[in-house]
Amino acid sequence: MPSLEKYIQDQLEFFSNKGQRRILHHYHKTSPTTLQKENKEYLSFNDNDYFNLSTHPEVIARTKETIEQYGIGTRASRLQSGNHPLYRALENLLAQSKGTEASLVFGSGYLTNIGVIPALVGKGDLIIADKLIHACLIDGAKLSGAKLVRFSHNDPTSCQRLLQKHRRHYRHCLILTETVFSMDGDVAPVAKLFSLANQFDAYLLTDDAHGFGLFDHHTMPAHIHVGTLSKAIGCYGGYVCASQTIIDYLINTARSFIYSTALPTPILAGAAHAITILNNSSHIKRQPIDNAIYFTKEMDLPLAQSAIVPYIIGTSYQALQVSAQLEKNNILAQAIRPPTVPLNTARLRLTFSAAHTKNDLNKLIRILKEITDNA
Ligand SMILES: *Cc1c(COP(=O)(O)O)cnc(C)c1O
Repeated sequence: MPSLEKYIQDQLEFFSNKGQRRILHHYHKTSPTTLQKENKEYLSFNDNDYFNLSTHPEVIARTKETIEQYGIGTRASRLQSGNHPLYRALENLLAQSKGTEASLVFGSGYLTNIGVIPALVGKGDLIIADKLIHACLIDGAKLSGAKLVRFSHNDPTSCQRLLQKHRRHYRHCLILTETVFSMDGDVAPVAKLFSLANQFDAYLLTDDAHGFGLFDHHTMPAHIHVGTLSKAIGCYGGYVCASQTIIDYLINTARSFIYSTALPTPILAGAAHAITILNNSSHIKRQPIDNAIYFTKEMDLPLAQSAIVPYIIGTSYQALQVSAQLEKNNILAQAIRPPTVPLNTARLRLTFSAAHTKNDLNKLIRILKEITDNA
C-alpha cells in the first residue's frame, strides 16, 4: 500500500475518534421551509436561502426561458467567448445594490475571494483580518503571500493597534471582515473599520455573503464588497463590487476569474431576476431577522442581529446529540463543529427565512427547550 494511502486511512480514523468525521447526506427542498433528507421530510433551519428565492416561481420561469433560448453552458471563459450579455444586467444590479461604480461576477463566492485577494495584495503587503473570517478569505490571504495578522473579533481597537504596529513596514494594506459572520450571525463594526482603513492608507474588503438584502448599503461602507449569489439570492456564483478602476484591474489579474469558465446563462438570468424581486419587496427584507429575533427572545439568548443564530452547546459530541434529537422530532438544525468553529463552541447554527411561520418557530422553541431541559 502506498504510504499516502495508509496516512489517509489513519487520518479518517482520527477524525472519527474526535467526532469530527464529515459525511454527505442527500437533501432536496420540498417547500420553502421543508427539506427532504434521504427519505424523510423535515422543518428546516438549515439553509441560507433567507428570502426563499431559490424556489421562487418567477425565478424558475426566468431560468427555464433562458435555457430554452441559450442552452446551459457558456462554453468558454469570460475573456474568451463566454461573456454573455446577461452578465451586463446582473453586474449593473449588483453595483447598484452596493452603491459602487462597477462589479464583476465570478464562478462562486469562494472563487471570488481566492481570486480577488491575491490579485490586490502580495509579498511585501499586509492583511489585517478579523479572527473569525470565513475559510475562503483565509485561503485568499494565504494564497496572496501577504503578511497576515488577525484582530480580535469585531474589535476596531484591536484592528487599530495592529495598524499602528505593522502598517508602516508594508507597502499596501487590506483589512478583511464579514458584514454578518457566517457562524455567529453578529454584525461587524463596518463603518469604524472603513474609517480606520481610510486613516491608515488601507482598503477595507467586506464579505457580505450573509448580509445581502438585510441591510442598507449606506450603513455598510467598504472599498471592496465581495459576496455570493448562492445564498440570499438563491442561485449560484460570486461577485465583487468596487470602483471601475479596481474592477478593470481584477479582470486583468484575478486568476480564478481569468482561468475559469463563465457561469451558465440560466444562473445569470435567474440571479438578476431574484435581485430585482428582492429590490421590489421591501416587506420581506425584515422578515428573516424578525423571525430570528423572535426565537432569541423566546429562548433568552442575546438578541439576533441577522438571520443567523448560533445556539452554542460545547463539545462536538454534545452538539451532535442535540442535533440528532431535533432530527427525531423532524427538525433540521445543523451541528457546526471544530475546526469550522473554535474548540468547545460546537453549536447548532440556526438560520431563519422569510417563509418561517410563527407555528414553525414555536415548534422549534418548544422542542429545543424539551431537549435541553432533559439534558
Ligand atoms: C458561503 C460563503 C462564501 C462562499 O460562497 P459560495 O458562493 O458558497 O462559494 C464566502 N464567504 C462567506 C462569508 C460565506 O459564508
